[in-house]
Amino acid sequence: MTEKIIPIFERRALPASTAPLLLEQANGELQDTRARRLHDLRISVTDRCNFRCVYCMPKEIFGKDYPYQPHAALLSFEEITRVARIFAAHGVEKLRLTGGEPLLRKNVERLIAQLAAIRTTDGRTLDLTLTTNGSLLEKKARALKAAGLQRITVSLDALDDAVFKRMNDVDFAVADVLRGIDAAHRAGLGPVKVNMVVKAGMNDDQIVPMARHFKNTPSILRFIEYMDVGASNGWKMDQVIASQEVIRRIADVMPLDALPANYVGETANRWRYRDGGGEIGVISSVTQAFCDDCSRARLSTEGKLFTCLFASHGHDLRALLRGNASDLEISSTIAQIWRARGDRYSQLRTEQTRPAAGKVEMSYIGG
Ligand code: SAM
Ligand code: SF4
Ligand code: SF4
Repeated sequence: MTEKIIPIFERRALPASTAPLLLEQANGELQDTRARRLHDLRISVTDRCNFRCVYCMPKEIFGKDYPYQPHAALLSFEEITRVARIFAAHGVEKLRLTGGEPLLRKNVERLIAQLAAIRTTDGRTLDLTLTTNGSLLEKKARALKAAGLQRITVSLDALDDAVFKRMNDVDFAVADVLRGIDAAHRAGLGPVKVNMVVKAGMNDDQIVPMARHFKNTPSILRFIEYMDVGASNGWKMDQVIASQEVIRRIADVMPLDALPANYVGETANRWRYRDGGGEIGVISSVTQAFCDDCSRARLSTEGKLFTCLFASHGHDLRALLRGNASDLEISSTIAQIWRARGDRYSQLRTEQTRPAAGKVEMSYIGG
């Protein structure tokens, strides 16, 4: 499709930093400077969480006085849905709700129902998923499914209660998360993906027990390399266990074969148990960066658009939403931001990388 460029005749009171220079209709085929399509949108619906995972929201920093976004600052469900619809017109086919803990956002089911009504450029439903720590899942799984959620990812970092409690730092028990995973399967939100962040010396002794537990179940366990997101987790390279090592440890006791990728841009490398016990995945964000295929945009709780998980600044879409911008103006702004995108932080990361002040936190922007 050819692009239609419409010059602006009238500039209303839009903030200069985000106002589009040219108006153009979305054609579903946006590409950035490295020819990467815009395909996924991750939406953070809250920056709050009931866990204090040591690698994400350490208690010393996320204490009682932490300045979370006030409610009025958050995008409303209507604002989120409007932005998501515009992203869909640009070719986004997959939405993931995240946070903070997305199930803490009041009436999140209502948002899911609104998002479920959006269609892709060729009329299909969007792939609609959510990532949660599982603490409220047992209670909410059925309502989430009824609202139109298709699948769910649950984070669980250990099978041993003492290790898990050391990681979540709020004394939350493994059994409660496992009940949430079961409830999600019963509600039809499966296959549930279970994400385990591996931090050396903290929970790496849980790699094999977790693999054994989820083998021969409908859940797909994925091991995530501990990343230097944000500036609060004190990340060091020697705290990362490379995916290769994770696979080696599991394959030593339960032989594995590599599987081909499902689609371009898939973040996990997939492996299958040789005895037919199902599959696992490894997400090697540190040792094998996947920036070349990265098609993800991220919308923060208060409406900033980030083009990389490691970005230090976002583009303020809320100012447009609340400044009477038309859909065409917002759409044109998004197009210009994506076209200018050149991010590839993980590829540029080196062994010398140390947490730098200024990068946004994972709990703020979502995983
Ligand atoms: N609270 C929800 C949860 O924990 O699933 C959703 C938000 S959380 C920020 C999304 C994912 O990011 C989780 O799977 C979490 O384990 C992961 N994560 C957080 N900090 C991380 C880090 N430093 N490195 C790798 N993964 C991280
Ligand atoms: Fe909360 Fe998820 Fe971060 Fe843990 S990883 S502190 S559950 S936002
Ligand atoms: Fe995408 Fe940025 Fe992660 Fe690279 S570092 S995969 S560009 S989010």
